Amino acid sequence: MKIHGLQKMTLLDYPGYVACTVFLGGCDFRCPYCHNFELACGAAQPVMDDEELFAFLKRRKGLLDGVAITGGEPCLHKDLPELLREIRALGFRTKLDTNGYHPEMLRHVLEEGLVDYVAMDIKNSPAKYAETAGFRYFSVDESADSSDTSINTDEDDSHTGSALASPGTRTVSSPYTSGDLTHRILDLGKIRKSISLLINGAVDYEFRTTVVKEFHTAEDFFEIGEMICGADHYYLQCFTDRDTVPYGNLHAPSVEALQKYWRIMLDFVPGTELRGINEPA
Ligand code: SF4
Repeated sequence: MKIHGLQKMTLLDYPGYVACTVFLGGCDFRCPYCHNFELACGAAQPVMDDEELFAFLKRRKGLLDGVAITGGEPCLHKDLPELLREIRALGFRTKLDTNGYHPEMLRHVLEEGLVDYVAMDIKNSPAKYAETAGFRYFSVDESADSSDTSINTDEDDSHTGSALASPGTRTVSSPYTSGDLTHRILDLGKIRKSISLLINGAVDYEFRTTVVKEFHTAEDFFEIGEMICGADHYYLQCFTDRDTVPYGNLHAPSVEALQKYWRIMLDFVPGTELRGINEPA
């Protein structure tokens, strides 16, 4: 497997552990606020292969507790279970970051016990999920295609084609949906399936939302709360602008807005926290 980036040590990416972070290329979302957009859209070149990664990890035995696998979207890679298996065989804990759009891969790595911790993005409320993930279309019938969980889908066209001709499809009206994969149709059923797998599973996990002023309102958090009600942990993290973000006109919400969203979410997920921002007394 090609590795598109390696951060040799982090105290932030894997809560409670000293870890390294492995970046895998490619993503089936096009979030307008993405910090790793070149990685997501396939423009970034690999920096090593998995053999070089394993050689690095052997030298870090006893120095690192775990390995955080991120992207891009790691669950796109059909070799992900193999990668996780090898890392665990070297004695490291594993954390997986995911956009939640590949529930069958998620189920596989959970059931085989290949991950110790999963962090899944919750992009927005159902009505705004497609826009926030950079999709042009979304399926009205959420369960219509949720059995299609094909992986390694850089060339996957299972959600392409005559979206406008489909009676179960709606078009997103947004300035943030230009790009190479915007012909795809978002199936929110896949997101709900991944949420259910984590809430009803035995592996530690968190849900998290990167809050962007242009995308999120208080009303959205009432709906997000209903989506993940009963979850153990949920984090609100504030968008920060960077040169790598594809759209230059996005902003962080105010601290007051974040604290308001935090209060809303507490009714649904008592373990809600603001990441990197003080919670009000
Ligand atoms: S899910 Fe969105 S934020 Fe995450 S890598 Fe893909 S495009 Fe970027």
